[in-house]
Amino acid sequence: MQVVSVGEIIIELVRAPDGRFDLGYAGDTFQTAVHLSRSGVKVALATALGNDRYSEQALAAATAEGIATNLVLRVNDRVPGIALVESDGRAERQNEIWRDASPARQLFELPGWDRVAEQLVSANLVYFSGVTLSLYSNVGLGRMLAALEFGRERGARIAFDSNWRFASWRGDDQRARAVLSEALKRSDLALPSFEDEARLWGDASPQTTIERLQTFGVREIVVKNGARPALVHADGKTEEVPVPEEIAVTNGAAAGDAFNAGYLAARLRKESPAAAALAGHRLAAGALRGNAGAAPAKRTTAKTTH
Ligand code: ADP
Repeated sequence: MQVVSVGEIIIELVRAPDGRFDLGYAGDTFQTAVHLSRSGVKVALATALGNDRYSEQALAAATAEGIATNLVLRVNDRVPGIALVESDGRAERQNEIWRDASPARQLFELPGWDRVAEQLVSANLVYFSGVTLSLYSNVGLGRMLAALEFGRERGARIAFDSNWRFASWRGDDQRARAVLSEALKRSDLALPSFEDEARLWGDASPQTTIERLQTFGVREIVVKNGARPALVHADGKTEEVPVPEEIAVTNGAAAGDAFNAGYLAARLRKESPAAAALAGHRLAAGALRGNAGAAPAKRTTAKTTH
């Protein structure tokens, strides 16, 4: 498999202004997988779901997007996490999330986890986020991190977006910093958002973020910064890549996941880091405008759930 995206699919209930709910499927690494697949990249999602009808529908949504689901493990009598989102017709705001019993948390502890780990080791590129890591126990983390190390030795590239959210880590900043650092030590490519990094680490500028990430040995770093230019560090040089056009944002949170897919797809096509950042901006703009794909599956272009 060209890319394995590791994470979760979450049920999203979006309440419209008229009080009706719309049900869809979201999750940051799932969103990136959707955009990668739409960009023509062969991608598998590694996660765990239940055996309930919503897990079946989530699986069907992934399959409909062309995502391989052979690395989706199943757990009896458990249902995926649920997020409640309020919509005013233009912007969406996530209010609550229930994911304590989500099967995705146990991916690396379920029967079959070793098969998932083997596929990470033999992938061209493994993609995951800080949200992914926030799900796992120390046992799960140890197995995931070891798989990344073996994968790197075998030539897999490791791409990581820290995607830090206070709620994902239940407010435990110390654990977040420790775990994210371990991931960065094993990453070839980091795709953080400056706003998140500034809040968790106190970085003064995107340049500071790049310098901090370099201390972990990350060689290719792209710092997203909303409508401001992305700062791209690769091959020993750093350059700014401005957005082609500023958009009046209504639903910003899905943009980072789309950016990552645009960047990774372009790098897999051997485009330069600067050209890839521009491709990332373009895909993010599509997500912000709500027209990311030709025929989006219902709500899979929705904002990321953390
Ligand atoms: P996240 O969505 O992860 O919080 P950012 O807010 O930094 O990340 O945005 C990610 C990307 O989305 C940016 O690098 C840019 O490509 C695009 N983007 C975000 N906001 C805007 C905007 N107002 N106009 C144009 N592009 C934007």
